[in-house]
Amino acid sequence: MRMLKCYLGNNRDGHVVTAKDAMQSPGRIWTCTSCGCQLILHAGSSGEAPWFEHDQRTVTTNVLMQCTHLDPEVKAEARCQKLRSIIGGLDAPVTVPSWYCVWCGSHYQGRKHCGRCHSGIYSIEETSWQRNYCCPPPDKPCG
Ligand SMILES: [Zn+2]
Ligand SMILES: [Zn+2]
Repeated sequence: MRMLKCYLGNNRDGHVVTAKDAMQSPGRIWTCTSCGCQLILHAGSSGEAPWFEHDQRTVTTNVLMQCTHLDPEVKAEARCQKLRSIIGGLDAPVTVPSWYCVWCGSHYQGRKHCGRCHSGIYSIEETSWQRNYCCPPPDKPCG
């Protein structure tokens, strides 16, 4: 996961500190103001301000995907991958209903019952998901 450098973090008391200030109190733990991911403090090289790196082992990919510091390119790629899987799924007979589980982020077909969370209450119709989240300009194909 490519994450952008961030320069602000929450300390244990819930206060927002800059990476520069954080340099004054080493040994503390800081977390991302957006996703809550634990942060690694970097001193920065010559002429560069101190910055925080996401410690990506401390949270799941799903959490990082929601973070404002996620590299925008990663987001675009993920959207395209989902789109591709939908396009690939169009070969299936249209009579089979398609579902998208917003909880798990999984696509499936047939009975409204997500195999991952074993329920259908988080599932919405694939078509309405596409309408809401997938609208790439036609002249810009993925990839
Ligand atoms: Zn974050
Ligand atoms: Zn699910």
